[in-house]
Amino acid sequence: MPSRIIKTKAVVLRTRRLGETSKLVTLYTEDEGKLKATAKGARKPKSKFGGALELMTEVQVVCYLRDERELQTLSDCDALRAFPDLLKDLERLSFGSAACELVDRLTVERDPNRRLYRCLAGVLVGLEEVGRRQVEPLFWYFQLRAAEALGYRPELHHCTSCRTLLEGEWLWFSAALGGGLCARCGTAAAGIRVAGDSFRLLAGLQDLSAYQPEAIPTVPARRGEIRSMLRSFLEYHGGQHSHLKSLDFLESVAVK
Ligand SMILES: [Zn+2]
Repeated sequence: MPSRIIKTKAVVLRTRRLGETSKLVTLYTEDEGKLKATAKGARKPKSKFGGALELMTEVQVVCYLRDERELQTLSDCDALRAFPDLLKDLERLSFGSAACELVDRLTVERDPNRRLYRCLAGVLVGLEEVGRRQVEPLFWYFQLRAAEALGYRPELHHCTSCRTLLEGEWLWFSAALGGGLCARCGTAAAGIRVAGDSFRLLAGLQDLSAYQPEAIPTVPARRGEIRSMLRSFLEYHGGQHSHLKSLDFLESVAVK
C-alpha cells in the first residue's frame, strides 16, 4: 500500500519521548481523526518542528500516512494556536488536559469526526476566556457536545421510560437508559437520584446552539451530582477504557 501525504489541522493529545531526540505524539486531526505519529528529531534544539508539538497546542501537520501501519510519520508541523493562559492556571490546565484525555479515550484511530474536532479546539479557546467560576460548567458543556458528536446524546428533557417532561424537585439519571427518569419511573436500581435543578442546568447547556462565554453558567452548589451524571454516562457509553484519570485529579483542584 503506497503512502499518501496529508496536511491537516490537529490538536496534540499526548506526547512522549522517543529515543534520544524524537517524540511520539498522539494527535486528534480534523481530517483523519486520531493518529499516532513519530516526529523524528523533534527534541533537537533546531528541530523543524520547533516547539509546536506540545500538549493542547493546535497545529497544522504534514504527515505520511500508510494504511497498514499503526505509527505514522510527521514530516512538518506549525503551531496555529497555543494556549499560554491555560498553562498558567492549574484548574484551567487540568480541564484542558481532561478534554484531551477524553477525546483520546473515546475514539479509535483513523475514524474522522470533524464535529468532535471542533468541540475540542473550541473548548481549549473557551477555557482561556471564561471566568473562574464558569470553568467547570464549560467542561460539562464540552462533555455534552463531545457525547453528541460521538452519537450518544443524553436525554435530559423527557423521561426515558414514560416520555413525560422531566420536571419537579427530584429526578433520576440512568447512564444505561441514556438519560433521565421522572420521579415515578426512577428507582435506585435503575440510576442515581438527582436534583431537578442539576438536570435543568445540563439541559440548558445542551440546548445552547453555539458556545458563547456569557451563556455558560457559574458552578452551582450541587456540582458533585452533575459530575457523576456526565461521568457515568461517558464511561458507560465510551466503554471500559473511558475511565478518565485526569478527572480524578481535577475534581480535587477545581475552584470551591
Ligand atoms: Zn417516567
